[in-house]
Amino acid sequence: MRTKIKVLAVFCLAIFGFMAFKPLDKKMVIIDAGHGGYDVGADIKGFEEKAITESVASKIKELNKNENVVIVLLRDGDTSMDLKERVFRINNLKPDLVISLHVSSTANEKPNGVGAYISSKKKFYDHSKEIAENIINKIAATGNLSKRYVSEAPFYILKNADFPMVHLEMGFLSNEKDRSYITTEKGQTEIAEKILESL
Ligand SMILES: [Zn+2]
Repeated sequence: MRTKIKVLAVFCLAIFGFMAFKPLDKKMVIIDAGHGGYDVGADIKGFEEKAITESVASKIKELNKNENVVIVLLRDGDTSMDLKERVFRINNLKPDLVISLHVSSTANEKPNGVGAYISSKKKFYDHSKEIAENIINKIAATGNLSKRYVSEAPFYILKNADFPMVHLEMGFLSNEKDRSYITTEKGQTEIAEKILESL
């Protein structure tokens, strides 16, 4: 009998300990730095998209002070990762939110600003849209990038990752004013801070 009570006590303590340390109420946010490795993404005047997305991603992780939010970087470092693998990892991690980071580039140098894409799937539509709007509003409010729009897109990763997700386009590398902001430490830090404020 005593042994049974002891076993029960140890069991209760173990459960209590587990609950005290396991962050049950924490929100997991995956940051997917677009491109990487051999896939450089947009490449203009010596600036590569993969380096910008990687830098903003690591700043998001570094600057996160919110104890209720855990930031997970999908690709850590300059590694190649195809879309299928990204989706596989996302669906395995079961996050509360995914933010895919990209920058835009067009042949015409005029287009500029920050915009976002979300999936047209109904399941997480409202949640994804709300966060996307929030992020681009906050970034545009700094006055450094103009505000574009949130639109739906049939991108592979948006279609196949089964969680709320925002594909963010953090300005145009092909536009001189945007480029002079998104390629700087100050610009990348500010974008990371605004994303964190929107979570
Ligand atoms: Zn991209």
